[in-house]
Amino acid sequence: MRYRSTNHQAPAVSFREALLAGQAPDRGLYLPESFPSFSAEQQKRWPSLSYAALAEEILMPFVQEDLDAEALSALCQDAYNFPVPIEDVGQGNFILRLDQGPTASFKDFAARAMARMMSRFLAEDGRELLILTATSGDTGSAIAHAFYDVPGIQVVVLFPKDEVSERQRRLMTTLRKNIRSVSVDGKFDDCQAFVKRAFADDSLSQMPLSSANSINIGRLLPQSVYYSYAWAQITQAQGEMGVVVPCGNFGNIMGAWIARSCGAGLRHLVAAVNENDEFPRFLQSGAYEKIVPSRNCLSNAMNVGHPSNLARLVEVYGGQMDEVGTLHRSPEMAELRGDFFSTSVSDEETAQTMRNAYAQGVTLEPHGAVAWCGMQRYRQQSQDQGPVLIVETAHPAKFPEAMQSILGVDPELPASMREALEGDESFTQIDASYDAFHAYLMDTFGASFSGR
Ligand SMILES: *Cc1c(COP(=O)(O)O)cnc(C)c1O
Repeated sequence: MRYRSTNHQAPAVSFREALLAGQAPDRGLYLPESFPSFSAEQQKRWPSLSYAALAEEILMPFVQEDLDAEALSALCQDAYNFPVPIEDVGQGNFILRLDQGPTASFKDFAARAMARMMSRFLAEDGRELLILTATSGDTGSAIAHAFYDVPGIQVVVLFPKDEVSERQRRLMTTLRKNIRSVSVDGKFDDCQAFVKRAFADDSLSQMPLSSANSINIGRLLPQSVYYSYAWAQITQAQGEMGVVVPCGNFGNIMGAWIARSCGAGLRHLVAAVNENDEFPRFLQSGAYEKIVPSRNCLSNAMNVGHPSNLARLVEVYGGQMDEVGTLHRSPEMAELRGDFFSTSVSDEETAQTMRNAYAQGVTLEPHGAVAWCGMQRYRQQSQDQGPVLIVETAHPAKFPEAMQSILGVDPELPASMREALEGDESFTQIDASYDAFHAYLMDTFGASFSGR
């Protein structure tokens, strides 16, 4: 299996190279050249497999040139040692709760697999990496925890000062050792732009930079597994179902798209977004306009004015979009509209959805509520009466302010998180300027990575 760049100006590479590089040298994003298809015989066994065993089966064709079956099996067992609950809430609706990992976010699924794969490849090659990651809240904490104390890897997490919750911040800033965090007096888009610019910056070429953002293909492949898992559990791997994903950078829903491409019966992919509505507008009009600056919403991990994975989505439907969001060739819009449904949910509607769902016994935090509202609109407009999976991407206890002010409840913290939140914070504050970030990198790592 080879991995090619969405910008078509760089050679195809192995999984190991794509994973360690993050972004392709032409600034495109890596995608597998083809997708394995699993036989009906194979899929029939899926409902009886544990999550870790299914992950191994699905990931194998993507990584087999670089990892043998035994290593992959051990890695999946080790990474996926927590439950993956699917809640049947009636009327054909199922909630996939991806919040049982160490930072109570779906991002643990990819981060834990990536950390283990990267660490293994680096040790084999005798190399080191400096991972730069921009976060709107949850990526940073998941990456920080997954890579904590992993040999050969240094991590710098950039987060927007006023856009992360206290708990999200504490999950990143209390670890220390090889984990450093930088608070940027700006927006998530600034953080993301700094990381992208650092990769292209010749004056940093001595630093072995890599990314763990959703631009890394190593994020997307593990994120396809839980869709196949839920599909197998809900339909016994035979029927079809809709999937609703609360979207920011569109990495999670690309996981659903990959699962679908590998044969899971996911009929419609519903991209539910907050007031950052560039994607539903694009789907409607065919013209793409990013939102600058992105809008601050309750579902803060989805405050993205230009989703980095749109380049991938556009590409797989025959179009081309570069890294700054310029559409060089339109995708097949009719095909895209046939597979995707998208809707924007305001903060007011998010809060109202949380209240309505809570009255029916369903506890949702703001991101999951955006998905729930998306499900309602999807059902209304498509008349789909089959099973629909709603993805809840974080634990309600990660958003105590919103839960308290909207529902008047204070959900109990999962035990794993309680521990992670203790300890003193340590982070660096910088202005929203690339020069400040560059200076920080030189001060912190200039000496350790000089002359390599
Ligand atoms: C990151 C995140 C999202 C958005 O996921 P993308 O892959 O960026 O689309 C949604 N909800 C939560 C809680 C998140 O942390």
